Amino acid sequence: MSRRVLVLYCGGTIGMVPSLEGYVPQAGFGDRVRAELSGVAGQLPDYDLFELDQLIDSANLTPQDWSGIAGMLLAHWAGYDGFVLLHGTDTMAYTAAALSYMLLGADKPVILTGSQIPLGQPRNDALDNLTSALMLAANPAIAEVCIYFRGKLLRGNRARKVNSTAFEAFDSPNAPPLGQLGIELTLRDDLLLAPGQPDFRVPTFDPAAVVMLGLYPGIPARLVEAALDDPRVRGLILVSYGVGNPPDGDEALMAALGRAIERGVIVVNLTQCQQGPVCQGAYATGATLNRLGVVPGHDLTPEAAFAKLHFLLALDWPSEEIREVLPLPLCQECSLAP
Ligand code: ASP
Repeated sequence: MSRRVLVLYCGGTIGMVPSLEGYVPQAGFGDRVRAELSGVAGQLPDYDLFELDQLIDSANLTPQDWSGIAGMLLAHWAGYDGFVLLHGTDTMAYTAAALSYMLLGADKPVILTGSQIPLGQPRNDALDNLTSALMLAANPAIAEVCIYFRGKLLRGNRARKVNSTAFEAFDSPNAPPLGQLGIELTLRDDLLLAPGQPDFRVPTFDPAAVVMLGLYPGIPARLVEAALDDPRVRGLILVSYGVGNPPDGDEALMAALGRAIERGVIVVNLTQCQQGPVCQGAYATGATLNRLGVVPGHDLTPEAAFAKLHFLLALDWPSEEIREVLPLPLCQECSLAP
């Protein structure tokens, strides 16, 4: 019996149409997909296509939408062999990471994809991304949340949007691709996760719980204070320089971080570099963060760290446990720090 795939259209360029104000999502994508794929339907897995009632440009997505999407997948988990999520590229990496934590122990593929040019437009990359994602979602060798884009299959919680206009829009800078699709499909069986025991948890996210702040030369302490000036903030992702170095000469800035940590905010330190891990303490500046109790985020991407902190806070884990688990892989979202 052929494998069945559920395609869920959330919004994003792949199904958008041009308007006077630029691309906008449009309902009724299912019919357009069926028309486009009609010539090759016999060579593709069987699929059903649902779309969200409220289609979104993913720039407008909030952590609350992650639960909605996961809920839709879970409602149909038993009925399909795999899932394709058609999603805007702008925040696809955040959603992929969040889903990887919510669908811990997945035993089926969940493939997120989208496109840079909408389906049906000349020179679009949508058709290849969609058909390849459908085939990957029907592949029993895959049992995790991935992003497929322009020939590359990437672990979802390792992926980043790395190019705003190129068709090669995604990469996973700190982890090799899980597969390459040229004429042949090459999967890295040595890297793919084995099917797990589903341990799915779909919490309700508080969008105010986590803030993310990029350091820059001269950043004032009051910006950090303002970012944290809300009792709902329980986590801060700090994106610092190089191997995790902050401007520790700014005592007011360091004091602001220290006060936040004392009141229970979990501060995670990541690098602004495109590639490579945080080694907090390789320099004296970074060692200051060790003394304050900042958690080094190792080689987590900002997207993966943001979604992970949100997820653990939404589950209401005790702070100490969250701090311990953050730099350790739950589902290969980071490497083990040496
Ligand atoms: N702004 C669009 C979105 O993220 C871009 C895209 O789909 O590629 O929904």
